[in-house]
Amino acid sequence: MKVIIVGGVAGGATAAARIRRLDEKAEITVYEKSGYISYANCGLPYYIGGEIEDKKQLTLQTPESFFARFRIDVRVKHEVTAVDPVRKTVTVKQLENGRIFRDKYDKLIISTGAKPVKPDMAGVESGKVFTLRNVEDTFGIKEYIVSHSPGRAVVVGGGFIGIETAENLTRLGIKVTLVEAAAQLMAPFDADMAAFIHAEMRRNGVELILGSMVEGFHEDGNSFSVRLRGGRSIACDMAILAIGVTPDTSLAKTAGIELGLKGSIAVNDRMETSVPDIYAVGDAVQIKNFVTGKPALISLAGPANKEGRIAADNICGKESRYGGGQGSSVIKIFGMTAACTGINERTAKETGIDADKVILSPMNHAGYYPGGKIMTMKVIFEKGTYRLLGAQIAGSDGVDKRIDVIAVALRAGMKATELAELDLAYAPPYSSAKDPVNMAGYIIENIRDGIVKQWYYEEESVLPGDGSVTLLDTRTAAEYSGGHIEGFRNIPVDELRERIGEIEKGKPVYVICQSGLRSYIASRILSGYGFEVYNFAGGFRFYDAIKNDHILSQKATECGKEV
Ligand code: FAD
Repeated sequence: MKVIIVGGVAGGATAAARIRRLDEKAEITVYEKSGYISYANCGLPYYIGGEIEDKKQLTLQTPESFFARFRIDVRVKHEVTAVDPVRKTVTVKQLENGRIFRDKYDKLIISTGAKPVKPDMAGVESGKVFTLRNVEDTFGIKEYIVSHSPGRAVVVGGGFIGIETAENLTRLGIKVTLVEAAAQLMAPFDADMAAFIHAEMRRNGVELILGSMVEGFHEDGNSFSVRLRGGRSIACDMAILAIGVTPDTSLAKTAGIELGLKGSIAVNDRMETSVPDIYAVGDAVQIKNFVTGKPALISLAGPANKEGRIAADNICGKESRYGGGQGSSVIKIFGMTAACTGINERTAKETGIDADKVILSPMNHAGYYPGGKIMTMKVIFEKGTYRLLGAQIAGSDGVDKRIDVIAVALRAGMKATELAELDLAYAPPYSSAKDPVNMAGYIIENIRDGIVKQWYYEEESVLPGDGSVTLLDTRTAAEYSGGHIEGFRNIPVDELRERIGEIEKGKPVYVICQSGLRSYIASRILSGYGFEVYNFAGGFRFYDAIKNDHILSQKATECGKEV
C-alpha cells in the first residue's frame, strides 16, 4: 500500500507515524511545502519573545530523524499542486528547482492546515506587515526585530495568535497596540469573561483598541502606520496580521472534493472525504461540534492529532471514528491563564439552546495554605435538563486542571449537577476539600433544587429603581464604601438577622456580595424569613471587572486615546 500525505505537521506527521506503527510494509511519502516537518506551531510566538531560545526546539523532527525511526520518505520544500482522483496521482512541485513530477497513491491524506487570513487591503504586502503560520514566518519576524529594533508594533486580531504575539513582543520591550474588530478579545469566551483578559493585557502595557477595523497600512520612506476605519492612524514600526485563519484547501478543490464551511473539506467521522481513498484531517476540515452537533471549524492541535490518528487507523483497516471537537483550549496571557471548553453562552443562544450559568470565584487551593490564587469560573448548562454545555475560567494556577476536569465531564455526557459528585484529589497545596469544580456543581444543584435563585449582570440596568424591589449589598461596611452598585444598601451578612426588620416585607430582594458566597448565605437567611430572594451570579468582583472594562473600552473608542 502506498500512502501519500500532504502536509507534514500536526495531522500529517501524526498520521504518517501511526500508519507505520500499524503497517510495517506500507510505503509512506510525506510532501511538505515549507522547509520543516513536525514543527511546533504552538511554540512559534515564544521563540519570537525569547522564551524558547534555541530554534532547534521548534522542530521536533527532521526528515532524517523521521526516516531513521519510521522509514518514512519526507520531502520538504515540495508542494503538491493537484490531485487526480481518477488516476490516483498527485502533481508535485519541487520548490527549490521548479521540477514538477507525479506520484501515485493508493490512499491519500490531506493535512494542509489553515492559512492566515490576509485581506486585500492597502499596504498589506509591505515588508513591515507579517503573518505567523510556520517556522519561516517566525524566523522572518525575529530577523526583522533583531535588525530593525522596532519600538512600536500593532497586532491586528485578538485571538490566540494575536494575543500570544502581543505578549511576546511586549516581552522584548516593544510597545504594542492590539486592534480587534470585535468588541472583545478571544471569541471563544463570553464578553464578561473576556473582561478579565482585557484587564491583564492592559495591566501589562498593551493598548487595546476594540471594536475597530483596520483598513490598511501606509508606508512612506521610513514612516509606517496602520489605518483604522474612521480615520485614525497608528504610527508603528511593524504590524502582525492575526485576524484568523481559513482552511487551506485549494488542493482539495483540484480533486473535486466536497467542501463545507468556509471552503473547508467535508469529511465523515472516519475522516474520509467525498472522494474514495482520500482522507483529510486537521485545520483544513469541517468537523462536528461535540456539544451542538453542528458543523464546525476548530483550528487546534489536539483535534488535528486525533484526526490524523483516526485516518491512519481506518487506512490500516482498524475501525476508528471521530466524535467531534469541543474546542478545549488554554492560553497564557502574561500572568494569567484563560481556558475554555464546550460552547459559550453566545453560541448557546445562537444555537437556540436555553442556557443558564453559574459564576464563582474560588481559590485554586485551600485559602489557609500560602500562595492561593483566585480564579473566575463560569459554567454553562442547559436549563431544565442540566446538560453541561461548556465552561470558561480565567485565573492563574490551577485553571488548566479545572478546565480539563470539566472537559472530561462534558465528554462523558455528565450533567452539570454531577460536577458535585466528582471525587477529586485534595491536599492543601493543590486544592480544597470542595474543589472549584465541585463548588460549581453544588451551586447548580442549589439552583435545580430551588434553594437559590440567581440574578445576572445583564439585569442590573433593568432593575427597578422605584423601590418596588430591595437591593442589598451584604459585604462589610468597608468593602461597601470601597465601591458598590448605585441604589444598593448595605447590611453585612453577619448583621442581617438582627436587622431583618429594616427590610420591607413583600418585596423581592436582590442580593450581592464580593464573590457570591456571603450573598448566598444572606439569601438563605432571607428565604427563612419568607422573602423572595435573588443572588447575584459572580459577586461584586465580577461585576466590577466587567464595568471597568466597559468604561475603559468606551473611552478608548470615544477618544481614540490609549487605555
Ligand atoms: P498544520 O500543522 O498547519 O500543517 C499543515 C502543513 O501543510 C503546513 O506546514 C503547510 O506548509 C503544509 N501544506 C499546505 N499545503 C500544502 C501543499 N499543497 N503541499 C505540501 N504541503 C502543504 N493549537 C493549539 O491547540 N494550541 C496552541 O497553543 C496553538 N498555538 C498556535 C500558535 C501558532 C502561531 C499557530 C500558527 C497555530 C497554533 N495552534 C495551536 C494551532 C495548531 O498549530 C493547528 O491547529 C495544527 O497545527 C493544525 O494541524 P494541521 O496538520 O491541520 O496543519
